[in-house]
Amino acid sequence: LFSQVTAAPPDPILGLTEAFVADQRPGKVNLGVGVYQDESGKVPVLECVREASDRINAEGAPRPYLPIPGLATYYNLVRDLIFGSGSEVAETGRVAMLQTLSGTGALKVGADFLSQVSPDATVLVSDPSWENHQALFTRAGLKVGTYRYYDESAHGIDFAGMLEDLGAAAPGTIVVLHPCCHNPTGYDLNDEQWVEVVKVVRERGLVPFVDMAYQGFSRSLADDAAPVRRFVESGGPLFVSVSFSKTFSLYGERIGALAVVCDDADQAARVLSQLKIVIRTNYSNPPTFGAKVVSTVLGDPELRALWEAELGAMRDRIKAMRRALVDGLVAAGVEQDMEFIARQVGMFSYSGLTKEQMLRLRSEFGIYGTDKGRICVAALNPRNLDPVSAAIAEVLRG
Ligand code: PMP
Repeated sequence: LFSQVTAAPPDPILGLTEAFVADQRPGKVNLGVGVYQDESGKVPVLECVREASDRINAEGAPRPYLPIPGLATYYNLVRDLIFGSGSEVAETGRVAMLQTLSGTGALKVGADFLSQVSPDATVLVSDPSWENHQALFTRAGLKVGTYRYYDESAHGIDFAGMLEDLGAAAPGTIVVLHPCCHNPTGYDLNDEQWVEVVKVVRERGLVPFVDMAYQGFSRSLADDAAPVRRFVESGGPLFVSVSFSKTFSLYGERIGALAVVCDDADQAARVLSQLKIVIRTNYSNPPTFGAKVVSTVLGDPELRALWEAELGAMRDRIKAMRRALVDGLVAAGVEQDMEFIARQVGMFSYSGLTKEQMLRLRSEFGIYGTDKGRICVAALNPRNLDPVSAAIAEVLRG
């Protein structure tokens, strides 16, 4: 049975962590994986999460199965976080909501459903995008292509190219969009550009799938969700995948959600019934703990305020690290203009370093980023900043 099985290549990002763990050098730094770390280099346990967990544990409630779509208190609070409280989609009941196994699970449930209702559709992801987008939609049986996004020479977005590619896509094409903190480049569309993207998506009859893994990491909870709300206002179908891995620092709890906006409540009920089958035949129903933590925090005004403050502190720390990296590079003698790093947003920076330079960072300095030059600025801290700046300066010198 297994004699024909070939060895799959390591996952481009998680494989990097394996290599990092195996590295024995004391000064090694992992800027590969997308995990926010605090000043001391640890994955934080947010205070609001600690308090919510204590309350849940003190309750000692039994752990029966959750319903297939998950914990209702949870996904209703998440709906309000995405669409705003008292939103029209909530009032009319035209959004199907599900608790999912984090953002990846939301994408996969959405992809499986789409491949059932629209098997011939093509999915377009940004060039480049989070590596798993392409793999996940392909595995779900859909054809995957790209739309232009990153403009290397401009240190920004090829917006004309993006509009042209979306404008040329066939009606029914599924378009995966990052509402904020674009992974991997760190370059986001501005408000005016979003207006144009929403317009072309709707005019062409494309299906937007907004993947929101970093709500609150760029500007604010409401501002970062603005593209989602624009799509709602413009009418037509909309998929939104949400992850709380980063924003609640709950990576291992696998907590996220999928929202599918439909024309009316009746359509949403039918869509939900199909989504439930996708879940039932995959993992039956989702786990309890993460949903309880997030709903306890979102549903309690004090804990919610604490979360927003902690989220804001993570956002500010990332911004400070961007600034410090640019300054550190200048201090280390880099002559090129690296200001673009401070202009980018979110956890990642497309550093502009070549594959050779990234490989040198790894082999000579024990600093791990992806081959494409992506580094996680959320893993920088006052201790590793100088060695990282010095090493980047060294490989840039050639
Ligand atoms: N989408 C994007 C754009 C991401 O960057 C990530 C995490 N790196 C995810 C989805 C999914 O992460 P998770 O499954 O942990 O929510």
